[in-house]
Amino acid sequence: MNKTKHTSSPWSWHGRSEDHNGSVYYLKRPGHAYAVAMQPRYVSAEQWEADARLIAAAPDLLDALQAVVRIADRKTVEFDKARAAIARATGAANDPDGQELRQHAVMGIERAMSTRAMFVVFDLDGTLAINDHRQHFVQRPVGQKDWRSFFAACDKDGLFWQIARIAQVLDATGNRVEIWSGRSGEVIDKTTAWLAVNGLGHIPFRCRDEGDHTPDHELKKSWLEECSQKPDLIFDDRSSVVAMWRENGIACAQVADGNF
Ligand SMILES: [Mg+2]
Repeated sequence: MNKTKHTSSPWSWHGRSEDHNGSVYYLKRPGHAYAVAMQPRYVSAEQWEADARLIAAAPDLLDALQAVVRIADRKTVEFDKARAAIARATGAANDPDGQELRQHAVMGIERAMSTRAMFVVFDLDGTLAINDHRQHFVQRPVGQKDWRSFFAACDKDGLFWQIARIAQVLDATGNRVEIWSGRSGEVIDKTTAWLAVNGLGHIPFRCRDEGDHTPDHELKKSWLEECSQKPDLIFDDRSSVVAMWRENGIACAQVADGNF
């Protein structure tokens, strides 16, 4: 879908007009030309020619600058200038409603979707499910933690809806999305029902086997090692697990302070 408003390139220039005003010509194809700029008589031939070359190169310069910003955007003064120049050239700078900018954003998403789908994994407890109400079962000294009661109360969890929305949008836009949870399989029925009620029931879900007490970071590392396709991005909350993902080169967005 080509949203470009200006005449497509290549542009070229050729001599002055007959009245010697120094017109700069756009040539779409031989025999079809019209003036796009006019220079006064007193401009030297050297300057006229330099201006003409610059104008004729404009669509290619714009195209190249947009490509550079698209693949290597940085928060620097130089890239601020580049974005401002693109906005001036495309009219986005005079677009008070931001329609042009939104159009570019949509085009960016379309480009991203046409390249490669991402594999994104979401943790459940503390990431998609808000479980503060049952933390007291495990925030106890070692030996007094009541994991069974902790898991059993999972059907009363709230929804971290902002994170759930990201999962739903990524899934709906063609990405591979899965939920990997250290939650015990002994509450699989409650978990499945909770996921369904919260619009996540269609997303593949994996949890620990009943009776398995492997620490979360070791359990999830073993799942990672089983994968033929490594996740591109993980959403998780527990710091020890987040550290494991990062040590294994997986980008991880930590959604809460999971220092437990
Ligand atoms: Mg968690």
